[in-house]
Amino acid sequence: MTGRLLRIARTFLQNKQSNCIIPNMSSSSSAKKLRVLVDMDGVIADFEGGFLRKYRTKYPNEPYITLEDRRGFWVSTQYGHLRSDLCEKAISIWESKDFFVELEPIPGGVQAVKEMAKMENTDIFICTSPIKHYVHCPYEKYAWIEKHLGYDFLEKTILTRDKTVVTGDILIDDKPDILGVDPTPSWEHILFTACHNKHITPSSSQRRLLSWAHDWRGILDSKRPLTR
Ligand SMILES: [Mg+2]
Repeated sequence: MTGRLLRIARTFLQNKQSNCIIPNMSSSSSAKKLRVLVDMDGVIADFEGGFLRKYRTKYPNEPYITLEDRRGFWVSTQYGHLRSDLCEKAISIWESKDFFVELEPIPGGVQAVKEMAKMENTDIFICTSPIKHYVHCPYEKYAWIEKHLGYDFLEKTILTRDKTVVTGDILIDDKPDILGVDPTPSWEHILFTACHNKHITPSSSQRRLLSWAHDWRGILDSKRPLTR
């Protein structure tokens, strides 16, 4: 009797185990998908244009730097070089309420991201770094994404200060040097051209995307596994 009960129990456990290890088709198929990470500020949201407009409104009598003359990723650094107190004045602009949510979309960016989301074998995520003055920025980034890309994109939003720990095939980003704890991130960084980086020469291995009017589909396709 005891032996029979043990056999029944073993059979039950084996069935239960096999149920647990049925391959998850959705995760195995998603492993083959191209994963695209798209930065927000300077790639789909016009940080530089929004900054200059609000800076000139708030400080109409102070000197400013045209978009043509922008150099270097950090706006506050260049303003600080112009005059030391302008560094803090620049920072006050993007730390203000409504700065991030009111950024205009960069031409073609929202449409491209929506198109990527509809592509077969493609997973798209918005991968963006909030500023450390977090009172408004994280909330407004979500609000911007919902407004321009739709509610469902909130599932595809990654807020992180370190993009090297996020895995993907491609990261489209306007920051020339994306550093973090992982020295060898899984993604290829595609440098999205912006006013502050158009004068620098990317390293020989680095590819650029000049704008959303250029061949972003070709860049994605170049990363897809060959099917034949
Ligand atoms: Mg950016």
